[in-house]
Amino acid sequence: MSAAIDLRSDTVTRPSAPMREAMASAEVGDDVLDGDPTLGELQERVAALLGVEAALWTPTGCMANAIALMDHLTRGDRFLAPAGAHVLEAELGTAAWLAGGMPGPLAHDAGPGRPTPAAVTAAAGRAGPYFGLRTSLLCLENTHNGAGGAVTPVEEHRALIAAAREAGLAVHLDGARIWHAAAALGVEPAALAEGVDTVSVCLSKGLGAPMGSLVAGSAAFVDRAWRLRKMLGGGIRQGGVVGAAGLVALDQVGDLAADHARAARLAEGMEELGWPVIAPDTNIVLVPTPDPGSLVASLASVDVAAVPFGPGVRFVTHRDVTDDDITATLDRAATLPAPAA
Ligand SMILES: *Cc1c(COP(=O)(O)O)cnc(C)c1O
Repeated sequence: MSAAIDLRSDTVTRPSAPMREAMASAEVGDDVLDGDPTLGELQERVAALLGVEAALWTPTGCMANAIALMDHLTRGDRFLAPAGAHVLEAELGTAAWLAGGMPGPLAHDAGPGRPTPAAVTAAAGRAGPYFGLRTSLLCLENTHNGAGGAVTPVEEHRALIAAAREAGLAVHLDGARIWHAAAALGVEPAALAEGVDTVSVCLSKGLGAPMGSLVAGSAAFVDRAWRLRKMLGGGIRQGGVVGAAGLVALDQVGDLAADHARAARLAEGMEELGWPVIAPDTNIVLVPTPDPGSLVASLASVDVAAVPFGPGVRFVTHRDVTDDDITATLDRAATLPAPAA
């Protein structure tokens, strides 16, 4: 058997030896009582990277998004998000039943994962009679996972935020992969967080941390976020043990460009093999095909792990995948019949 190559997600990475060392030697305290110094350092560093006042660590990105949406929404509200957004499809509807918002999906009329500002304006509508929903929030996602790690460029991103503001909406950015978007665009992450009220980021997507996300925004928002996190059962004690992994993860943001290059190479190789493949913006390669299950099974037979994803199969490059692994994946793919488009 050849060595297995795991391209299911950029979350399958194992903490490196230096990361485990940083975790073992982390300075810690009781974060519920009087603060954990390592979590504090991580929170300050992420707030600075995003150009916002403050940030709060959460164990997961879903909790970070839930906290932001619980703060923004109240029952009777509607929120807008690009169709297929994580908050719409992959968080068990907590945006609706926990945060109280009625979802309003926006079509990708500007490109994959990208609604137009005009669509935001039209969907926001105007204040109607007292029994009408009140649209109060735009929730953006950059990169857009469901659309294959699709990047919204800076100017377009700003125009969406401006359209939301004009319509009186608050803006949350699900930036689980904001690092990937910033790397692909060659800008600082703060350029994508400019003008938003709240932003969530992940340290376990491509950056190698075993867990950890942050939700960030104004100091007043983060004060409320501490209470919301506690309501969700998220009071953390010596969280510095995992916070230390997050600090190492942030040191590794510069490696993402290499993951993106490997994804591009994988897609080019698949195209040469006659596979139906979408050229990636970042580290996610989608192969749209009518029978994702059989493609995943035949890949598994040659020790390549991928996942069915929407109407196709998803391959994700990450820091535990090397150039040789990409070569091996393409060699193994060449032994399979090309999937139907
Ligand atoms: C993974 C992901 C999340 C949620 O993160 P978890 O840590 O799995 O809860 C949120 N948004 C996007 C876009 C994601 O890809």
